[in-house]
Amino acid sequence: MEKIKIHLLRCGYVLVSPNLPFGNGNLIKASGLFEPKKEKIWLPVNAVYIEHPAAKILIDTGWNRAMSPEGVEDKEAQIKHLSHLLYEINQGYVESGKTADEQLSQMGINAADLDYVVLSHLDCDHASGLSPFKEAKKIIVSDEEMKSATGVINSHTRYTPSLWEGTGIETFSFSNTGLGPVGESYDLLGDSSIQLVHIPGHSKGLVATLISNNGKQVLYFSDGGYATRSWKDMLLPGVCENKEAAYKSLEWIRDISCTNSCVDSFACHDPEISPHVIEI
Ligand SMILES: [Zn+2]
Repeated sequence: MEKIKIHLLRCGYVLVSPNLPFGNGNLIKASGLFEPKKEKIWLPVNAVYIEHPAAKILIDTGWNRAMSPEGVEDKEAQIKHLSHLLYEINQGYVESGKTADEQLSQMGINAADLDYVVLSHLDCDHASGLSPFKEAKKIIVSDEEMKSATGVINSHTRYTPSLWEGTGIETFSFSNTGLGPVGESYDLLGDSSIQLVHIPGHSKGLVATLISNNGKQVLYFSDGGYATRSWKDMLLPGVCENKEAAYKSLEWIRDISCTNSCVDSFACHDPEISPHVIEI
């Protein structure tokens, strides 16, 4: 098939406890609620734009301009956009011209040109930037993620439903394909080239995106791990909805990343990986 072009876009930064990326499921430490700001670390917030011969696809949406109206940290704006609790857990900013919608429009792509906007899961640093993409042809997330994020407790703590409400978001169901740590995936275009692979653990309905073409593969594993280091040293994220599932998912990420056909594999927040474009 004609080539698929994959752009890793950097859509801002997030300040978190060092226990969040590599905290092995310790939620209290990972929240950083009792940690002084100077001990926190800045991580990138990425999104992935895929130019496929049959579709234009955005995976995750980074921060919204409303988080950072002047391109710098803005406490008041963040509390308004997220919530007080989420502001305490993750402060962020996105430089001007660097939100996902701003970067795509610099490439000549408008929301209405996108065939799919896929949210790997519904945490704020992935769903925040969704509102400018309301005109996209389809906005989707897994049904398991939506169900979990809109539960009574979750919707008032970990998640911010206002980030996706009113965007026309739809849910999809996984099929038992045998692919991935729990054997479940969703074939986005029906030709196996873009597989949304269920990698539960960090959140209930989290997906990795496995892109395959011409005998090569690229894996975007979102928050299944926070860096390449995560699968090399088997370090789980600090926030884990289910630790055993997260470990199994990380093993699968490691196995795919180590295959010869996998030419690139990256997390959403890896500080070691810079924005880049890869063609397969
Ligand atoms: Zn994240």
